[in-house]
Amino acid sequence: MKIEGKRTAICPRCGKKYTGRPALSRTDNKTYICPDCGTREALESIGVDEKEQEEILATIHSHTEHKRI
Ligand SMILES: [Zn+2]
Repeated sequence: MKIEGKRTAICPRCGKKYTGRPALSRTDNKTYICPDCGTREALESIGVDEKEQEEILATIHSHTEHKRI
């Protein structure tokens, strides 16, 4: 069985299904969350509020959608 490559998991933070590389949660350093929540936590740690986090994520998505993830 191949570990590398795409796999699907449920993010415990937002409850969404995601594929790809998980991010390690900064809150406990052992929970794997989806890349979006990883970005959210990173932004949160530098003081970006929730509304702005979503705006930044939307921007990231619009730039990565046509690329291979
Ligand atoms: Zn998530």
